[in-house]
Amino acid sequence: MPEPALLLTCEHGGNQVPARHRRLFSGQKALLASHRGWDPGALALARLLAKELDAPLLACETTRLLADPNRSRGHRALFSEFTRPLPATEQQAILDAFWQPHRSAVQRAAADLLAGNRRVLHLAVHSFTPVLDNRERVMDLGLLYDPARSREARLAKAWQAVLARAAPHLRVRRNAPYRGAADGLTTTLRRSLGSGYLGLELEANQALFPDPCAAPPDLARLLAAALRTALTLLAQGG
Ligand SMILES: [Zn+2]
Repeated sequence: MPEPALLLTCEHGGNQVPARHRRLFSGQKALLASHRGWDPGALALARLLAKELDAPLLACETTRLLADPNRSRGHRALFSEFTRPLPATEQQAILDAFWQPHRSAVQRAAADLLAGNRRVLHLAVHSFTPVLDNRERVMDLGLLYDPARSREARLAKAWQAVLARAAPHLRVRRNAPYRGAADGLTTTLRRSLGSGYLGLELEANQALFPDPCAAPPDLARLLAAALRTALTLLAQGG
C-alpha cells in the first residue's frame, strides 16, 4: 500500500480559558493546571513530532473543561461539571466558538490529504496521568487504534515492534490506557472519511515531561523514526 500522508493533531494542547468564560472557573487554578484541564506535555511532543515527520499539526489550546474536542456531540463527557449546568444556548455558543472549529479544521485537513494521497494517517497526540484513582499506570506510551480496522492494527503493531527493538526500556502498550475504538475524534473521522483514513492516538505518560511545556527531543526523534520504519514495512507488506 502507498505510504499515507501524515496529519498530526493535539486536542488537549492547552488549558486556556477565554475571557468571557473566566467566571466559570474562578478558584479553579489548580484543577486547570492538572491533567483534568489539559494534557501536559502533549503539545510540546506533538510540535517536535510534526517537525521530525514534516507533517502539519492542528492543535486546540482551549481547556477541555469548557467542551472536550475529543468527545462527540451528545457524549456525557462533552461538557464538564463547570459547563454541564449551563443553558443549552450557552453550551451551543461554546461548541460553536471552541469545539467545532478544531473538529472541522481536522476533518477538512484530513479530507484534503485523503483527496491528494488516497490515504492519510492522522496521529492524535495525547498524554495521560501516571496515577489515576490511586492506581499507577505502569506504562510509558500507548498506541490506540480500532482493532476492527486491519491497517490501523498492523501499523500499531509494527510501530510497537520497531520501538521495542530501538528502545527496549520503553513500556509501550496497544489500546491502553484507553481503547482506540471508544468515542474520540479519530472514531468520528473513521466513520466520515472511510477506509483511506487511518486514525491512531499516541498516549504519552506525563511522567515523561518534567516540564509540561517541553518534551524530550530524543523521545520525539525515536518515535518519529520508528513510525517511519513501521510505515515503510507496511508499504512493503502491501
Ligand atoms: Zn488527551
